[in-house]
Order: sequence, then structure tokens, then C-alpha cells
Amino acid sequence: MGYELNIKRFYAPFVIAADCPKCGSRVEQHCSDNYLSYPTAGESFEHHMYCSYEDDAGEYCEEEFTVTIRLDVVLTAVEGCKVMPS
Ligand SMILES: [Zn+2]
Repeated sequence: MGYELNIKRFYAPFVIAADCPKCGSRVEQHCSDNYLSYPTAGESFEHHMYCSYEDDAGEYCEEEFTVTIRLDVVLTAVEGCKVMPS
């Protein structure tokens, strides 16, 4: 079951990479630059990607598509406590 993190702009050191369904080129989105807006933790959600590939003729692909991702938050007891699901 997912839960709201209530984070307006979530920056993280991840790269979301997928092949464009139209032209096949690799599309990468760096989450350190492009934040996730109000992500939900622990549950899959659709994330929008945009292909800006430019071919030899100068035509841009401009395909918009979605991928399914999930943000998991892990809280780990390090010292002096236990962490349990609530
Ligand atoms: Zn494309």
C-alpha cells in the first residue's frame, strides 16, 4: 500500500532510462536535475518521459510516453531501536 510523501520537489541521484517507443533511441531523465513532483512511496505510478532525439534531417522525435516506476523508502534501525511497520 502506497503513501503520500508530501514532497513537492523530490530530487534524487537516479537516472530513469527507457527506449523511446517511436524512434527507439535511449531517453534518460536525471532525477538530480528533474525532480519527481509529490511522488507516492511504495506503489507503482506512471511517469512521463519525453524524447528529444534529433535525426540527421534535423527533425525532432518529440514523442511523449510513460514508464511505470515505484519509489521505495527504507527506514533502517542502526543503533538503539527497532523499526517496525505501523
Ligand atoms: Zn523518440
